[in-house]
Parts: sequence; structure tokens; C-alpha cells
Amino acid sequence: MINIFQPSFGDEELAAVREVLESRWVGKGTKVELFERAWADHIGASAEQVTALSSCTAATFVAMELIEVGPGDEVVLPSVSFVGVANAIAARGARPVFCDVDGRTLNPTVANVAAALTERTKAVAVLHYGGQPGAIAEIAELCRDRGLWLIEDAANAQASSVAGKPAGTFGDIAVWSFDHGKIAVAVEGGMLYARDPALVEKAAKLAYLGLEQRSGFDEARRAATRWWEFDVCSFSPRRIMNDVFAAIGLVQLSRLPEAVARRREIAAEYDRALASVPGLVLAPPVPAGHVTSHYLYWVQLAPSVRDTVARELYDRGIYTTFRYELLHKVPAYGAKVELPGAEYASARTLCLPLHQELSDADVETVTSALHEVVTAEATDAARGVR
Ligand SMILES: *Cc1c(COP(=O)(O)O)cnc(C)c1O
Repeated sequence: MINIFQPSFGDEELAAVREVLESRWVGKGTKVELFERAWADHIGASAEQVTALSSCTAATFVAMELIEVGPGDEVVLPSVSFVGVANAIAARGARPVFCDVDGRTLNPTVANVAAALTERTKAVAVLHYGGQPGAIAEIAELCRDRGLWLIEDAANAQASSVAGKPAGTFGDIAVWSFDHGKIAVAVEGGMLYARDPALVEKAAKLAYLGLEQRSGFDEARRAATRWWEFDVCSFSPRRIMNDVFAAIGLVQLSRLPEAVARRREIAAEYDRALASVPGLVLAPPVPAGHVTSHYLYWVQLAPSVRDTVARELYDRGIYTTFRYELLHKVPAYGAKVELPGAEYASARTLCLPLHQELSDADVETVTSALHEVVTAEATDAARGVR
């Protein structure tokens, strides 16, 4: 099966894991601290502005706690969003309000966000679809003007930027993921950035049982007496990272530019080879000044054939999918809105395999299969077979 996502690990990751295991300190320690510093450097922030967590979803829950979203509040997010973000809002008794997206880029426009704001809106939470930053600069300006918190779900955007400014640094808080399906993978893991270091300090406590004092082998604390004493500032679960995952994450971060470069090459080859498939529409080009991480590669097909194409590709050993299933259609959130851009996108979009371990032959397998399958579908449709 040609996978849609696949992490790439080598000897360096194995050596990093071995080193941590042999050290006998596998919990949160120096590797986590190094990973946090390296990530801060990567996004041009200071070490006080980031903290590592157990997952991006955990970081999103922490983010909603940090801004104290609660009953009566609304948080606007695109319907094309990761389910964990809506859960983080709803879990606090607040209402997720789903806005529309541009049917071609799958990112919300500033007008889409503005249309969903009410006097109850407390925050806006957007992602960068497939790694494309979208209108993040304009959305950040809107949020500043309206006095709203902006949270960026930058899980798709590990190496994305607009005019040199990294995705994740436009808003007040941002979260990233290093789970099995991302570009740089730590097995599991998340990172939280906040413009205000005081929020990060609080986030670290919320991520560790709400403890006021951190335990661990800190020299200053060891010198003090009763280093085991603590207070609790919130009744929080434990959602911290560990040194094994951080060690893997560090290696993966150093290899991120190489991974993105290979993905860019694959995306360019898809663009070239698929441009001539009748009825298949490529994603719009990335605007000037925008840099994408090439997390997702997607095409659009007529709604009447999209699912059959996906099925036939699957039968040929090629996994495709649609991200992200529309949240305003999920009954649990109780949304009653019509979002034509999101509907347009969800009926037509198909994400193709994209990861740095795809060989040129894999890419050729995908493109020629698409040529055949889409052409056959179009012929069948014309003949009235389907
Ligand atoms: C993967 C992903 C997440 C969740 O990350 P976890 O680390 O698995 O919790 C959140 N948002 C987006 C956009 C993602 O792609």
C-alpha cells in the first residue's frame, strides 16, 4: 500500500533513542528542554515562549484553558478543522461556531471569519490547510482590531511562513503536532507557543497536574529542604512530553528542511503529471510570499466520481483520503449553519499520498493510476454506465 502519510526514521533517531534509554532518564528532562529550545529557534521565538506537551490535542485543550473560554463564550473555527479543536472548545462549555472556507484552498478567508463573529465571540482558532498559511495575516489583524484571541492550529504548518514570518507566530497562541502522521514526527508530542511568556509558564503547570512546583532533579531544589512539597493551582491531568520522544523530535526537526524539500519535489511532479487529467482540478498555486510545508497534496474531482476514484485507487494499493470532515455536520456540536464553500470542498477534494519516503516510482504509480481511473470514470459517466 502506498500510504498517505508515513514517518521517515533512520540511524540517527535510533541512536538518539538508545542514548536516552541508556541514560535511564526517560521522563521529561534535558531532551525536552533542548527540543523546546530548538523549536523556539525554528519559529524565531524565545525559549520562554514555548512548552512541549504530550500531543497537539492536549496543547489545544491547554490553550482553551489559558484563555479561560467558558459557558456563554463562542470560539470561531473553520468547519474544515481537526476535531480536537472543537472538542477543546466544547469541553469547556463554550460553543464552537463553524465558519466557511474557500472551496478551493480549504482555508477560511478573512470575510468567512468575520461573518461568524458575534458579541459572544471570545477567540478564533484557525488551521493552515495542508500547510498553506492562507489569510492568516489578515485574520490576525481582524482579531487584533476586535480584541479577540487568535489560536493557530499549526499542526500542518511545521515549516510554513508568510513573508518570512513563521506560521504559528501570527496569533496569541499556537499549537503543533509531532504525531505519527506529521512531517517531523516524535511518535507522539505537541508544542505550544504563546506570545506572552506568562501564558507559557501557566501552560506548563496546566500540563503537569496543576503543580505549582515542578519536581525533578533541579540543583537548586536539591539544595533546599523538603523539595517534595508542592501546591496545586488547577485540577489538571498530566500531559507532558518525555525525553525519548523529544530526542526523536530533535533529530526530526534537524531533518525537517530536507523532508519539506522532498515533499516540494513530489508536489511539483504531481502538478506536472496531473495537469493534463481531464476533470481533475489542481489546488490553486501558493500565493507569492507564502511558503507551505507541503503537508497535504490535494486535487478536486466532480462529486459524482470522487468516492469511486478513491475506492479504485485503494483497490490498486493507493491510499487517499479527505481531510478534514466537516465539523458543522457532526451532530454532537449541534451546529445549524450552511457553509457552501466547505460543502463544495468536502464533496470534491481528495488528498493524495505525500510523504518524504515516496520514491519517484511511487509517484509515477499514483499519477498513472489517477490518469486511468479518472479517465475511465469520465468515459463511463458519458456512456451512462454509472
Ligand atoms: C494531527 C493534527 C492535530 C492533532 O495532533 P495530535 O498531536 O495527534 O493531538 C491537530 N490539528 C491538526 C490540523 C492536525 O493535523
